[in-house]
Amino acid sequence: MARRAVSATVEEAVRLGVTFRHAFVEAPTGKGALRSVRTGSGEETYAGQFVFACGAWLAKMFPEIIGKRLFVTRQEVFYFGLPAGDTRFAPPALPTFLFQNDESYGMPDIESRGLKIALDAHGVPADPDTQSRVVSEKSAKEMRSTLLGGFRR
Ligand SMILES: Cc1cc2nc3c(=O)[nH]c(=O)nc-3n(C[C@H](O)[C@H](O)[C@H](O)COP(=O)(O)OP(=O)(O)OC[C@H]3O[C@@H](n4cnc5c(N)ncnc54)[C@H](O)[C@@H]3O)c2cc1C
Repeated sequence: MARRAVSATVEEAVRLGVTFRHAFVEAPTGKGALRSVRTGSGEETYAGQFVFACGAWLAKMFPEIIGKRLFVTRQEVFYFGLPAGDTRFAPPALPTFLFQNDESYGMPDIESRGLKIALDAHGVPADPDTQSRVVSEKSAKEMRSTLLGGFRR
């Protein structure tokens, strides 16, 4: 429910007086203390301090400082649909789980999204803007045979 949690945080911050802008921020250029940032539409914002919480995009934002330190790799997430009325994979029957032997983990069927399973191992290098959002056939097959096979046991 991360999306909803982020929205709730924004709403609360705005209620407390924060000004919220949703915009693309251009990578800062130049040297010395940063005084302002510019959005894609040319709006300039000045502040004493800036926090860049850009996740996997940080390497693109600051290629010289952090570009060689971040290793952004692909990870695939699977949501398996469940048979109607099957409550074995929903709370309270199934908690969030983690298998330490192969770094796979998942969430139970929350709000009917299905059973989530993902592999936390490092994948191939990926560009967060251009990488494919489609899971590979190979991974889907692995997930089905290994993990769901394990559940059945
Ligand atoms: C496949 C996968 C599955 C995961 N599953 C789980 C899970 O089940 N549970 C869990 O707790 N965590 C999970 N995580 C981890 C979780 O998603 C991250 O830890 C979390 O999203 C990091 O938050 P963040 O705010 O640092 O970065 P992000 O959520 O990546 O947010 C960065 C934001 O910066 C924005 N941005 C980038 N560049 C710019 C720019 N120039 N201008 C403006 N905005 C910009 C991006 O659009 C993005 O919205 C998963 C991660 C992956 C990749």
